Formats: sequence, C-alpha cells, structure tokens
Amino acid sequence: MNLQRIPILEQIKNEARTREILTSCGAIHINEHFVYTSGLHGSAFIDKAAIVPNPLLFDELAAFIAAETRHMLPEVVLGAAVVGAMLAMPVGRHLHTQINHPACSPRVIFADKEIYHPRDEHGNLFFDNSGEPRIEERLVIKRGYSPMLRGKAVLIVEDIINTGKTVHTLMNLARNAGARVIGIAALCNRGPCTAADFGGEPLVLTSLVQLKMDVYDPKIGVCPLCHAGIPINEELGHGKEYMEHRRRVA
Ligand SMILES: [Zn+2]
Repeated sequence: MNLQRIPILEQIKNEARTREILTSCGAIHINEHFVYTSGLHGSAFIDKAAIVPNPLLFDELAAFIAAETRHMLPEVVLGAAVVGAMLAMPVGRHLHTQINHPACSPRVIFADKEIYHPRDEHGNLFFDNSGEPRIEERLVIKRGYSPMLRGKAVLIVEDIINTGKTVHTLMNLARNAGARVIGIAALCNRGPCTAADFGGEPLVLTSLVQLKMDVYDPKIGVCPLCHAGIPINEELGHGKEYMEHRRRVA
C-alpha cells in the first residue's frame, strides 16, 4: 500500500477551515497578556478547551489530521491526557475510514497524567514553603497499553505544540516501550518547533495551522506587556498561579 500525501491545495483549504473553526469556537485570543506553562509571557493564547464542547467541529479537525497523516500508515496513534487523548480517538477512527485497507488498522492509546512527589538523587523529597512534600505532574503509559507500543510505528497526536515538551515526553515514553515514532501531528504549532527539534527525518511534523506568537521572559525583564502595566489574564493559562505567587512574595 502506498498512499500519497494530500495535495497542497487541499492542505491550504484545510488550514483556512481550521482557522475559521478556531475563531468560531472562541479559541484564539489576541491583544491580551498571558502567562504560559513555560513561565514565558505573551499577548496571544490558543484555548484548546474551547474547541472540545463543539463535537462536530472537533471531529472535522480530527479528519484533517487523519488526511495529513494517512500516508504514514501509523500502527498506533498516541495522545496525552486530556485534550490530546480526546483528539487521538477521532483521528484514529478517520485513519481507519480514509485508509480503508484491512492491512492498516491503527490502534489508539493515550498517556495518563499522574501526580507524584519528586525526589533528589539520594531519594529525598523536596518540600514547598508550607513544609509539605512538593507535588508535580508527569505523563505515564499505563492501563496495560505499553505492550501495544512494542515494535510499532507510532503517530503522536497533540492539540497545541508550544515548547514541544509534551511531544518530547510522549516520544520518550513510546521509544522506551519499544516503538518507532514516525510522525507528530498537531492542530496548531504555536512555537517555532520544526521536525529537526524532534530528531528530523524520517520523522514528519505536521500541523493544521502555524500561529507564530511572540513570547517574552519576565525573569530577565523583557516583557513589554508587564512594562506597559497590562493586567494578566487569570482565566486562561497560568496567569492565576503567577499572580498568586506575586501576591505572596509582595
Ligand atoms: Zn508580562
């Protein structure tokens, strides 16, 4: 079986429709002041959670991702909880429909989020300011999914690629389970990430839209939005935690 990549005109049409969907869901926020998971600041935000309550539009985006990736003939589709896992499922279903060949029947699995207490190299816990053991979050493959990855060609599905940290984690989890990562597909590549950042060819990186957003590091005093006194959005991103921390140390 040798499927071709979708024609460039179809890609352009899908990209325009994706922008239309993101806008109609209220997922694109611009001209505000946000704090991202990375701790960096910026004026724009893609709210992936705003797409989820629109199942038909969410499914339409999943069909576009399947169209972009079907030529890879993935054997497993892997997403990260929560939205990435939700997206992986319809992508897998559309891959079945679009490839329509009994020899290619991709399975869909996901990585769970797990709360844990980090320890140093001597096994000692870290403690926060209130004396409680520090809590962090990590992604893990459980539920008996690990053996499904062994020896398989894996497509990683992500909602929004920011710094690429989640994708790197998923790649490591898949490879540690004996899989071969053949591609990464996202709704939106918000950072300047390229395939080279994830190891380059033969791995393929594709996203329905690329949205270049300027980011600033407040730790080195280069956020013009902070300088201009623009209030931080505490509803989206990590603005709430950032402002709580600032109020505590003030
Ligand atoms: Zn700022």
